[in-house]
Amino acid sequence: MIPFDYRRADDVASAVATVTGNPRAAFLGGGTNLVDHMKLGIAEPELLVDVTGLPLDRVEELPDGGLRIGTNVRNSDLAAHPLVRERYPVLAQAVLAGASGQLRNLATTGGNLLQRTRCVYFQDVTTPCNKRTPGEGCAALHGYTRYHAVLGASPHCVAVHPSDLAVALTALDAVVRVRRADGERTVRASALHRLPGAHAERDTVLEHGELITAVDLPPLRFAANSRYRKARDRASYAFALVSVAAALDVADGRVRDVRLALGGVAHKPWHATLAEHAMRGGPATVDAFQAAADAELAEAEPLPDNGFKLKLARNMIVSALRGLAGEDAP
Ligand SMILES: Cc1cc2nc3c(=O)[nH]c(=O)nc-3n(C[C@H](O)[C@H](O)[C@H](O)COP(=O)(O)OP(=O)(O)OC[C@H]3O[C@@H](n4cnc5c(N)ncnc54)[C@H](O)[C@@H]3O)c2cc1C
Ligand code: SF4
Repeated sequence: MIPFDYRRADDVASAVATVTGNPRAAFLGGGTNLVDHMKLGIAEPELLVDVTGLPLDRVEELPDGGLRIGTNVRNSDLAAHPLVRERYPVLAQAVLAGASGQLRNLATTGGNLLQRTRCVYFQDVTTPCNKRTPGEGCAALHGYTRYHAVLGASPHCVAVHPSDLAVALTALDAVVRVRRADGERTVRASALHRLPGAHAERDTVLEHGELITAVDLPPLRFAANSRYRKARDRASYAFALVSVAAALDVADGRVRDVRLALGGVAHKPWHATLAEHAMRGGPATVDAFQAAADAELAEAEPLPDNGFKLKLARNMIVSALRGLAGEDAP
């Protein structure tokens, strides 16, 4: 048992100042990921600053027609919110596809976004891992790679990002609001997480002490026609092998607009911009959806145990888009 202090945050400014001023302090949301890591010896904070009492727990309508989700909105409340279900079904479905009812009751929006990879070697402190200890090496490179990346990996890390919520937010082009010691900033959801490059230890572009306060969903009328599909090794309580978040706007048989993101394939939620570009303005047909999926996956580099992810991703992209276009899409 490694001792640590626990403090409930009174306000946003002091929470940010406390964590910024102490490199061994960490924010605590629902604790469903961080506390596990403390038990496993992956994280050893000396101070936990519990932010769940801060008044950042509401879903509010924005003047432009979008929604603001406070960082402390619990996953179960987010998935059940009537406006989320009506305007952004992909988001509600993504949250419900993750974890279990009990975990979703505790897990927060901010904590969900910042949960760390489920790479088994990262979670096993007896194996080398550049994400845990930079420069140590990567056990996955010569290990079991069924769950690992096929896009955007590096020789330093081939892990995938685990959050389903983050994949939906990437597709919706949500904006993450961040409070730091010297003010506020915003980060697009698609730019929050990073590819590993030579710094596998860094999951996101956030600096130590930066607090997520909210996530803004832009007004996106066609997001009402959206869905989340997730393939996994068992029907629930498992992370994605591949997931697809898609929203589609079709008029007169042509794609007016489309949003597409993939989970389970890279170190970050994968915004499928090549596929989006290939589809916009074109016919809403299965052939076009297949061609778009192929364009997105052309640069993929599967590992020895995960070549199946390419076919799976292609089929899931086509199936999700076909469902949104109407099952009779030619
Ligand atoms: C058995 C199991 C199965 C699961 N299955 C899935 C799944 O299928 N899909 C899925 O997406 N997830 C899954 N999860 C993960 C679960 O969704 C996360 O554990 C949860 O969302 C984390 O939220 P939390 O509030 O508990 O975060 P915490 O554990 O409190 O925090 C996580 C990280 O975020 C930081 N943090 C927390 N709040 C803030 C903030 N406001 N600003 C800045 N930093 C912050 C913490 O310091 C910590 O580093 C599963 C978890 C378990 C245990
Ligand atoms: S893939 Fe990344 S997280 Fe997994 S062992 Fe290698 S460096 Fe660590």
